[in-house]
Amino acid sequence: MAKTIKWWIERNYKTKKSLTDEIRNLINQIDDDCFITEEKDIELLTWVLSHHHDYLNKINGSTNFKIRVRRSLVNSGNKELLILRDDGTEIDISWTKALNPQGSSTHKEDLRNAAVQAVNDQIIEFKDKNTDTICCLCKKQIEDKIEACHYEPRLNELLTQFFGNDEEMEKIDIKDGSYASRYFNPELSEKWATFHANQATLKPAHKKCIRQRKSN
Ligand SMILES: [Zn+2]
Repeated sequence: MAKTIKWWIERNYKTKKSLTDEIRNLINQIDDDCFITEEKDIELLTWVLSHHHDYLNKINGSTNFKIRVRRSLVNSGNKELLILRDDGTEIDISWTKALNPQGSSTHKEDLRNAAVQAVNDQIIEFKDKNTDTICCLCKKQIEDKIEACHYEPRLNELLTQFFGNDEEMEKIDIKDGSYASRYFNPELSEKWATFHANQATLKPAHKKCIRQRKSN
């Protein structure tokens, strides 16, 4: 098992969450497609990103790279970071991955990511057809955009039902796509999508409520 090194303690962040919250707030305040310009923000993000397992490849020798914020192509509720290298090329880099043990995503996270992408059209269809604006988790009105919540059974339960336990999930082959996306082979993707269409019950929720539920 990988040992978690709580490197955020070196800057007096008592928990990973306190640093995660600060970074998310910082990024959310930057408009889409804009560069981070405040010196202290650049310094903070560079410190976090430097823990990414593939950081050296990502910066590719750049000593003066810039960091740009972009709307996620996979999940429009998320913002992600890109590095503009000294040579003018640009590459995405995940700050949440940088905060994981080993600075990389776990197999289970990759599987979850691939599973969500394989059913993306079902999620879009749900959002398009949905007329209910009460959050299924906090029961309050959703003022802005709704997110699709796997209310019951939860996504993790569906994943276990379909893919099996952790050990069996480890054996599933997951391929890297562009922009931090992951995918299964087409046959598995199809089977999972059919299973999901039959078994999942999607309900509207606030994005923040889904996030809170996930971390509990
Ligand atoms: Zn809510």
